[in-house]
Amino acid sequence: MTTHPETGDDAGVYRTLLESTQAIPWRIDWASARFTYIGPQIERVLGWPQDSWKTVEDWAMRIHAEDRQKTVDFCVSQSQQGTDHEADYRALTADGDYVWIRDVVHVIRRADGSVDCLVGFMFDISERKRAEDKILQLQKELEALSYRDPLTGIANRRMFDRILDVEWGKARALGAPLSLVMVDIDYFKQYNDRYGHPQGDACLKEVARVLDRAAARTRDLCARLGGEEFALVLPATDEAAALAVAARCARRLAQAALPHAGSAVADIVTCSMGVATIVPGSQDQPAGLVEVADTRLYRAKAAGRNRIAGSAG
Ligand code: GH3
Ligand code: MG
Ligand code: MG
Repeated sequence: MTTHPETGDDAGVYRTLLESTQAIPWRIDWASARFTYIGPQIERVLGWPQDSWKTVEDWAMRIHAEDRQKTVDFCVSQSQQGTDHEADYRALTADGDYVWIRDVVHVIRRADGSVDCLVGFMFDISERKRAEDKILQLQKELEALSYRDPLTGIANRRMFDRILDVEWGKARALGAPLSLVMVDIDYFKQYNDRYGHPQGDACLKEVARVLDRAAARTRDLCARLGGEEFALVLPATDEAAALAVAARCARRLAQAALPHAGSAVADIVTCSMGVATIVPGSQDQPAGLVEVADTRLYRAKAAGRNRIAGSAG
């Protein structure tokens, strides 16, 4: 091997190479738990001077308090077993910030198998962590969006199915009543025909807002199932209370007084509703409750629209 032009030896070549990489090389003597080497790059990344890294304690104390115990425990146990390992943690900088570090550790053993020293590289992975956090955030937003109706901003059918399932399970376990209100805007085709599709969209938004507010308890859910159809899932609600919620929806919609000159039942936008209640037994299925509420909704339509149908008619 040729000698190094500046330092004149092979060790100098390796040193130059090590000290010119982005990663920070280091070496710890196992018996004394002291650094025998750390690259000068450490100062650029974390701000602490090269000669301030003396013991394993210096390293441990410069790990974020939330990451410290598990990082130290993990690295010590892996090293004792003689296993190469990696650890990601937040390292404290001299000016009080934190930098995400990936420490890649290689355990050097003597001929008899005992641990001689640890050598490793610290990599600054802040940029990667930021990108990962951003992806996680985007995934969360996407998941939230996939349960939301884009037009009205309320829950969509997917959310409805999911919540109905969850509430069904709770109601069955507790022997509690669960109610469902199916809502369908009256003569909405005529609304679109008369006012145009964009105004139809605006009307759907307003109806969604009114219904969503009327289903006021924390666990109540108002969803748009599609088109001009909505549903309310009302946990711990018996039929009398569900009928009262439906009546409140109708009253608030009347107060909103959205003009509908094409309706045959009123001069404002109205809805027909079907209400169904069950204390779910082990043989019952959510789809059965939906079917009953749907049947009652169509009974409300057939009886002239702008009305609420429950078990009594
Ligand atoms: P009924 O009183 O029997 O419920 O009659 P309807 O006209 O409300 O019912 P129908 O099912 O005949 O028509 C529903 C209309 O809803 C037809 C469709 O153009 C309209 N619609 C469905 N989705 C949307 C939407 O996203 N935006 C708008 N503007 N209109 C929609
Ligand atoms: Mg419809
Ligand atoms: Mg309709």
